[in-house]
Amino acid sequence: MNQLDTLRAELRLLDAAFLRRTRRNNALPCAPHARIDGRDLLAFCSNDYLGLASEPALAAALAEGAARWGSGAGASHLVSGHYEVQQQLEARLAAFVGCERALYFSTGYMANSGVIPALVGRGDAVFADRLNHASLVDGMLLSRASMHRYPHLDLTALERMLVASTAPRKLIVTDAVFSMDGDLAPLAELLALAERFDAWLLIDDAHGFGVLGPQGRGAVAEAGIASWRLIQIGTLGKAAGVSGAFATGQADVIEWLMQKTRTYIFTTGAPPALAHALLASLALIEHGDDRRERLAHLIDRLQTRLRLQRWTLLPSRTPIQPVQVGDNAEALALARALWNDGLWVPAIRPPTVPVGTARLRISLTAAHTEADVDRLADTLNRLEGAL
Ligand SMILES: *Cc1c(COP(=O)(O)O)cnc(C)c1O
Repeated sequence: MNQLDTLRAELRLLDAAFLRRTRRNNALPCAPHARIDGRDLLAFCSNDYLGLASEPALAAALAEGAARWGSGAGASHLVSGHYEVQQQLEARLAAFVGCERALYFSTGYMANSGVIPALVGRGDAVFADRLNHASLVDGMLLSRASMHRYPHLDLTALERMLVASTAPRKLIVTDAVFSMDGDLAPLAELLALAERFDAWLLIDDAHGFGVLGPQGRGAVAEAGIASWRLIQIGTLGKAAGVSGAFATGQADVIEWLMQKTRTYIFTTGAPPALAHALLASLALIEHGDDRRERLAHLIDRLQTRLRLQRWTLLPSRTPIQPVQVGDNAEALALARALWNDGLWVPAIRPPTVPVGTARLRISLTAAHTEADVDRLADTLNRLEGAL
């Protein structure tokens, strides 16, 4: 067998294990109503929690930004591809989350995979929740620091690992809201451990920014914690409805990240038009209590209306409301049955989630209606008896 044959055999193995992924081509913008191959579907699969991705005011801001700033940055930030509007965005982001300074990245994946190697290297140690996002895992691997992955939310295990470590530089890394479970990390307790063991604490708030805390300032603002040890990552393609990410923290820490983060330094800057749109998005987030209230109401409605016995709605107070099914094939069958009923909810399988915990990942947005949520809950209740 040559290498191509080996690769084809492995693709067939993915099919056999129900792990082959496909993409759908949506004919409509990101919103609860999707159109796939001419069919209308009600979608519960985006991270557009506040319904901003197709907000006309943001599309207008993006067009205005493009008219003002053109289409591209032309170079990396530290050469000549950095613009006033991006400087304004960073200042606005820092003030919004309550930190001294912010650094704007093209994507959350780049922020996470770059910031970790800027903080720790060979001979150092990273301590990470087992369910952290893949971009954080890749950042650990790139750093060459020794990796200590603790069971999900298990602070006793984390403490044992910290006690045993003699590494000169230590970094604790966690998602604030876990992307496939919707639950929250105990941020104050993690910071207390970081203080006790002289470690950095990196919190990835991809799913909390815009949704949690006063005015949507995020999970860290909600927890009411602050420290020079704390580096917060937020992403701007989820609740913010555009694209990009940022790291915030103490000013010298952010200066260090700007000097050392390879995914910041060695890439063309994001189009400045995006920063123009993001400034408009931040204003909508800040004044978006009505959207957040609507979202909270829909989450509550789904939880009260679902009556599942065999499957489990995982405990979560965030817009991520996973229904754990367990078996890959059954999760896929459920997603397919929903699809046939006009409902688009993704089945999430290993390696995205641990083996044996395949699930439907329902995500709610402020753009859904009560009727949308009722339709989903009623269909799931019915399918549990029918599948
Ligand atoms: C989506 C996500 C990222 C990556 O952010 P992008 O801007 O989409 O690259 C990082 N961390 C978590 C927890 C995420 O869910």
